[in-house]
Amino acid sequence: MTNPLYDRLFGKHKGKTSVFLQQPDGSTMTHNEFLELASQYAHTLVQLGLQPDDCLAVQIAKSPQALAVYAACAQAGVVFLPLNTAYTADEVSYFVEDSRAKVLLCDEKQAAALQPVAAACGAILKTLNEDGSGEFSVLAQTMPTVFDTVPREEDDLASFLYTSGTTGRSKGAMLTHGNLLSNSQALADEWRFTEQDVLLHALPIFHTHGLFVATNVSLTAGSKIIFLPKFDLDIMLNLMPQATVMMGVPTFYTRLLSDPRFTKELAQPMRLFISGSAPLLADTHVEFEERTGHRILERYGMTETNMNTSNPYDGERRAGTVGLPLPGTEVKITDMDTGETLPQGEIGQIEVRGPNVFKGYWQMPEKTAEELREDGFFITGDLGLIDKDGYVHIVGRNKDLIISGGYNIYPKELELLLDEEEGVLESAVIGVPHADFGETVVAVLIAKSGVTLDLESIEKNIAQTLARFKQPKKFVVIEELPRNTMGKVQKNLLRDQFGHLFAA
Ligand code: ATP
Ligand code: MG
Repeated sequence: MTNPLYDRLFGKHKGKTSVFLQQPDGSTMTHNEFLELASQYAHTLVQLGLQPDDCLAVQIAKSPQALAVYAACAQAGVVFLPLNTAYTADEVSYFVEDSRAKVLLCDEKQAAALQPVAAACGAILKTLNEDGSGEFSVLAQTMPTVFDTVPREEDDLASFLYTSGTTGRSKGAMLTHGNLLSNSQALADEWRFTEQDVLLHALPIFHTHGLFVATNVSLTAGSKIIFLPKFDLDIMLNLMPQATVMMGVPTFYTRLLSDPRFTKELAQPMRLFISGSAPLLADTHVEFEERTGHRILERYGMTETNMNTSNPYDGERRAGTVGLPLPGTEVKITDMDTGETLPQGEIGQIEVRGPNVFKGYWQMPEKTAEELREDGFFITGDLGLIDKDGYVHIVGRNKDLIISGGYNIYPKELELLLDEEEGVLESAVIGVPHADFGETVVAVLIAKSGVTLDLESIEKNIAQTLARFKQPKKFVVIEELPRNTMGKVQKNLLRDQFGHLFAA
């Protein structure tokens, strides 16, 4: 009898000395200590009444203890639902109610605010703090350190993971043991992870990137993990000499580059820098390579499918692309209206099929039927193309596509041009309602520090390069683009802010 997730990520490390190193306090935990703790937690879950296929919601700080809760869920067959630690009690209430979680684990500081939430949803509330203390641990300490792993099939549920909510309300993706494992091994192989690797892990573990990519890949290979509660420039720079690989979102890289202490000497001994979750700016790519000699490896994934594509480890890491489909994963580009497969080089919706594709959205059968085709292809909601060498290029999200006077306008095309303009740090192009055209284009610009942008000259340059229908009707400058925890630009907030500009 097996339990795919537990056996292949956790159980197999019994007896190994690799450690989780927790920062900033520098405490360590060996695999054996970790497995014993996870078993005590698994007993505790059972004692709290959780049975296989029941759901446990957690809103706890990142720590090896929090990861042991994930292992305990796998071992006990419980569905693991990690929640963004920034969510308010109202937000948590939606997820606990929607998921029908039977137990909610939270930090002691949050307990008073979450008690009414748990009570209203009929869930038991227990506390677990980042230092491992709390009611849940007190219970766990009385439990045996060995637990009879609950047998599971590949198709059994392992996690509900809610999408980031960048384009609307977060949806609960049902992920199976098979989904979570399907590309962990492929990625560990592709990225050459071994037991000698040390991952600098500053991503949150309530999101697919930090949990099901960074953590799962390292655990698959038995690599050591340095756990940082969040991205902290000083700690990152201090610890880099101990690490071999870093995974991050693009903002991690821009922040590293903003610091003169991030030198070639510091970065050179590292083996690999990986970026995902949002597009990496061309400037960041170039500057990073110039500064460190390393070419960042960009990859593409999402809550519903874990990972889809990656630039190659050995082959060409092509800037502006998210690389090639992973082994076992198919990617195709289809026409948005007809669903027909488009020829190479044409822009359309990105569809993905493979063992990594989720089972559907929890309690959303209609949405699932709309986006998950009968033949197994998932319509990702992203638009892109596949070039002649098979590299996938993302041009934006379906929901951000601007249709003005019947013409399709892809914001990314404009953003790339605007980012090249003098003094522009970054840009976001949005469509706003317009009485004549349906929608029209607004360019939101961020200036480099201390620079006043010459909007007239930018407008003139853009007018020379782009067809008239694509040209922004308005340029606005703001201090900072709104971003969510994963560094994704929240264009819906920009549309709310500037949507009135051309209102009838
Ligand atoms: P929601 O589905 O709730 O609107 P979301 O799509 O942001 O939120 P996630 O599943 O966290 O939720 O993010 C997946 C999305 O992130 C992808 O669909 C894609 O748009 C974007 N993404 C991931 N990696 C990259 C990348 N390397 N380049 C560009 N976009 C990326
Ligand atoms: Mg999405």
